[in-house]
Order: sequence, then structure tokens, then C-alpha cells
Amino acid sequence: MAEHKTKLLIIGSGPAGYTAAIYGARAGLEPLLVSGPQPGGQLTLTTDVENFPGFPQAVNGTELTDLMRQQAENVKARLVTDIITDVDFSSRPFICRGDSGDTYIADSVIIATGASARWLGLESEDKFRGFGVSACATCDGFFYRGRNVAVIGGGNTAVDEALYLTNFAASVTLIHRRDSLRADKAMQQKVQNNPKVHILWDSVVTSFNGSNQPPALTGLTVKNVKTDQESELKVDGAFIAIGHHPNTELFKGKLDMTPEGYIITRPGTSKTSVEGVFAAGDVQDSTYRQAVVAAGSGCIAALDAEKFLTA
Ligand code: FAD
Ligand code: NAP
Repeated sequence: MAEHKTKLLIIGSGPAGYTAAIYGARAGLEPLLVSGPQPGGQLTLTTDVENFPGFPQAVNGTELTDLMRQQAENVKARLVTDIITDVDFSSRPFICRGDSGDTYIADSVIIATGASARWLGLESEDKFRGFGVSACATCDGFFYRGRNVAVIGGGNTAVDEALYLTNFAASVTLIHRRDSLRADKAMQQKVQNNPKVHILWDSVVTSFNGSNQPPALTGLTVKNVKTDQESELKVDGAFIAIGHHPNTELFKGKLDMTPEGYIITRPGTSKTSVEGVFAAGDVQDSTYRQAVVAAGSGCIAALDAEKFLTA
């Protein structure tokens, strides 16, 4: 059980964490980054990333985060494989404990633990994730030009995603488990008036179907929850939009958060309610949730931490 002392502890190894590590290291802060349960973060769940600048031919999500990791290592950020399980922000230096039993003693902390999309939890969903099943229309919608797609969910995100997808897809089927949408009235009207969108009410997906080698989605089995009748829907893509949850369980009661659990940062900064603790990326962003935005906010957090440490 080791004790690690650092001027800057970064929790999380997605685009926000790695960018904070690169900036922190180049500022001479010798940051220590704890990579967490998903090294590389959410981008490792996707195949092609076409909207991260600098990669004109698209880049595989895992490859992209691996390049970020290499860049952080090249500028001498210290990377540790561990999961932070407890934090004490009540006095400085801050004390964080890892699943390994190690203790991290830090003059400042950047939280970059990201968010996780909620999934339906079907085995077949796992099989086609990244091969037709996605949780991000902004990221993957472009691949479905002229194709038929489905969106699962009935909230604002689902409606937003369905409307966004009409820019590319030939048809969008919105599958919702009830007979009325949770989305705002104005959004409901927009989606119901869009000729490309068809809504399947009272319906749940019971299976994602397709070919195996390589995996490719070709359709869904959908069950009407009122009649129990199952039907097949032919689609090339399915977007799960049943909500996200920020990975902030660990910080509950220790930092100010929104009712949904996102860490609150002071507008235009990465500063949280505790001086010396900063937050970057999806963990404090319920709106944009894009890799380039997370990377940008990782940069902001490192600059804020540097200013704090040298004040
Ligand atoms: P994340 O990437 O979520 O990383 C969080 C990190 O925190 C992980 O490394 C995890 O291990 C770590 N962590 C969590 N808990 C702990 C803990 N207790 N201790 C230590 N570490 C911890 N965006 C785009 O711009 N373009 C795309 O094409 C794109 N495609 C996507 C496809 C999918 C399927 C998904 C789910 C998302 C996609 N996104 C895309 C969104 C993008 O991945 C996120 O916006 C971005 O990864 C957020 O970065 P982040 O660093 O804030 O957090
Ligand atoms: P949300 O409001 O919680 O909606 C989630 C939707 O998914 C609900 O319709 C829910 O059904 C459905 N759902 C949940 N679990 C499911 C399951 N296991 N199977 C099938 N369906 C399931 O989440 P969100 O849409 O991501 O929105 C989150 C927050 O961000 C909200 O406050 C929202 O207003 C906000 N937001 C705003 C905008 C905007 O203003 N343009 C855009 C996006 C998000 P039920 O309705 O039956 O519960």
C-alpha cells in the first residue's frame, strides 16, 4: 500500500483527464493521473470518430485515446492504474484512496470521471454496440445517410436525437415505452410534425438482430407492452437515448452538484465548490458531451489548477 504525493491529482483518463495531464505536465506540475475503471473513457466504446480535429480520415476511438495517453506519457505525466474509491476534500492537502489500497495526497485535484450512457442491458445490445447500436447521434448519425434508424427513449434527448437524425436518415422510428413523451411540449410538436419520424408507442426493444462476422445490425424485435405482441423492425442503426448518469457517486455530499448529479463549476471556469478542486469534461457537462469539448475543458482545468498552485 503506497502513498503518492502530488501537486496535481487527475481522476479519470478520458479526453478531459489526458488533456489536463498534458497541460499540467507541460506547466511543470508533475501531475499524477489515476486511469479508473475504463482507461481511455467513453471513446473506447465507439469505432470511428470523425469529428475530432486533426484526423481527416477518421480515427478509431480506442486508438485516439491511446494517442492521448502516449502524449501525456511523453510529457512525463505519471499514469497509475487504480480506481479512486474515497475522497476527503475537507482540508488540504486533499486525500484520496484507491481500490488498490494506495493513498493519494494532493495539493489540487481535477475530477474528470466522465459520464455513462444508460443502456437497455440486453445481451444483443452489447453484441452490436459500435456496430449499429450507439448512444450518440451527434457522433454516429452521419454514418446513416439514407438509411433507416431507430431511437429508443421518450425524453428530450431522444427527441433531439430523432430530429438530428432526420438530417441524414431516410426514416427515424422513435420507440417509446409509454403512450406519451416525457419531452417538452414544443419538442413533442416538432418531432410529431416531422414527416421522417414515426413513433412506436407503448413499445420496448426485446432484441437487437443482425449478422455476425463482422457484426452488423439489421433490425430490432419490438414488443408492444399493452398487447405483448412482438414485431420485427428493419433498421441499420439504433440509438439508445434513455439518459446518462455522471460518474459522481464518490463526490456526493463533498461538492455542490445539480439535482442530476453533475458537478457544478463556476461559469467560465472549472472551479468547483471546494477551492483547489476542479472538474472537467462530461462530469460537469450535461449539454455538449463531446470529446473535443471535454478535452478543451481539461485544458481549462489544468490552467485553473496551475493558477491556484502558483497563487
Ligand atoms: P470519459 O470519456 O467518460 O472518461 C471518464 C474517465 O474517468 C474514464 O477513464 C474512467 O475510467 C474514469 N473514472 C471514472 N470513475 C473513476 C474513479 N472512481 N476513479 C478513477 N477514474 C475514474 N464524442 C465525440 O466528440 N465524437 C464521437 O464520435 C463520440 N462518439 C461516442 C460514442 C459513444 C458510444 C459514446 C458513449 C460517446 C461518444 N462521444 C463522442 C462522447 C465522448 O466520448 C465523451 O464526450 C468524452 O469521452 C467525455 O470525456 P471525459 O474525459 O469527460 O470522460
Ligand atoms: P430523461 O428525461 O430521464 O428521459 C429518459 C427517457 O428514457 C424517458 O422517456 C424514459 O421513459 C426512457 N427510459 C428510461 N429508461 C428506459 C428503459 N430502460 N427502457 C426504455 N425507455 C427508458 O433523460 P434525457 O432525455 O436524457 O434528458 C435528461 C435531462 O436533460 C432532462 O432534464 C432533459 O430535459 C434535459 N435535456 C434537455 C434538452 C433540451 O432542452 N433540448 C435536450 C436533451 C436533454 P419514461 O418517460 O417512461 O420514464
